[in-house]
Amino acid sequence: NETPTADAMLRARARLVVPGGMWGHLNAARLPEGYPQFFAFAEGCRVRDVDGREYIDFMCSWGPIVLGHRHPEVQAAAEAQAAKGDCFNGPGEVMVELAEDLVAMLPHADWAMFQKNGGDATTSCVTIARAGTGRRKVLVARGSYHGALPWCSPSVAGVTAEDRAHLLHFEYNDVQSLRAAVEEAGKDLAAILVTAFRHDMGRDLELPTREFAAAARMACDAADAALIIDEVRAGLRLDVRGSWEALGVRPDLCAWSKAIANGYALAAVTGNDRFREAATKVFVTGSFWCGTVAMAAARATLRIARETDLARHIHAMGLRLREGLASLAKEHGIAIRQSGPPQMPLMLFEADPDVRKGKAFCSVALRHGAFFHPQHNMFLSLAHRPADIDEALQAASHGFKAVCELDARSNR
Ligand code: PMP
Repeated sequence: NETPTADAMLRARARLVVPGGMWGHLNAARLPEGYPQFFAFAEGCRVRDVDGREYIDFMCSWGPIVLGHRHPEVQAAAEAQAAKGDCFNGPGEVMVELAEDLVAMLPHADWAMFQKNGGDATTSCVTIARAGTGRRKVLVARGSYHGALPWCSPSVAGVTAEDRAHLLHFEYNDVQSLRAAVEEAGKDLAAILVTAFRHDMGRDLELPTREFAAAARMACDAADAALIIDEVRAGLRLDVRGSWEALGVRPDLCAWSKAIANGYALAAVTGNDRFREAATKVFVTGSFWCGTVAMAAARATLRIARETDLARHIHAMGLRLREGLASLAKEHGIAIRQSGPPQMPLMLFEADPDVRKGKAFCSVALRHGAFFHPQHNMFLSLAHRPADIDEALQAASHGFKAVCELDARSNR
């Protein structure tokens, strides 16, 4: 007769009035046992659930948090703007300032426009590319996530074949398959749409090869089509100039969201002059797209990202985590694979097709205060300090112990 937790009581109430209790990828039923559905508080790299349990956070709200929860300077900027009003009959001065900041920061960009969610931005990029080229075919990598709209949702429920009629697929990082798709599109090629790196759930992460990036750029140049980079998840984390800048490849259009306002709801499309007129012609809008508070938060976030060498810090913290996990796994005699940029790491267990090991690891680490994910890339933030990583590694060592026990049981 244990009293139910606050989380359990909220879940029971939610089941009555919210379909499935929660929709989409944030439904805790998709997570390992013991993960909370509801949260009450967050600060820096720590989150607290509605039962008051605190965790070192390696999901960062699934991407939107990059400076740490409630970063004081971002909060101050947002609150100062909120004191004057958020949602007006049109944009505030801050929209122009933010567009100027992005154009100055991103070598590819001559203009910017603003929205709310990553899916708004990826959809607008595709629409602008089609408007600017007068063509239909859009090439996307098989398995890449670009949002939950009918044209790109990973689920087929409620989606018609017509919604996806003009998409063609290729394998990420596979130049041959990209070329084949380009050929298939022929004179109808509007765009190639790629994520900044391959971060599909449940498989090893992969950075783009120089060859692949160059091939995508060349194909678009040859066809006068748009190269669109989906920076929604990786944006700001690898390189504040754009994730492919170090590869020497610049996109025509770019979709941004998640981290650009450190947790405030904002998305952006940036583009070059080739697509400026098309961006002027398409009709895109949303009731909240002019909200000034998120834009003020974004200005502060971008400034801090530039001034603090954000990417370098989260790289160092991610590396510390990765090295710690590798040595703990070795100590316990457990085979793991780690992949991706250290800023957005992923750890998978070898011989774990049903993710039983990954889930056991995460459940136990969670009980010891570290919020990891068994299959999705994780996120580091500016608020993670070496001591936080080391504390999380203590929790991880309990997780590895649990995997050892699981292995021992299944070998018996
Ligand atoms: N593109 C990528 C690469 C993403 O990771 C996401 C969100 N996970 C989206 C697009 C869609 O963003 P949103 O959920 O804000 O619409």
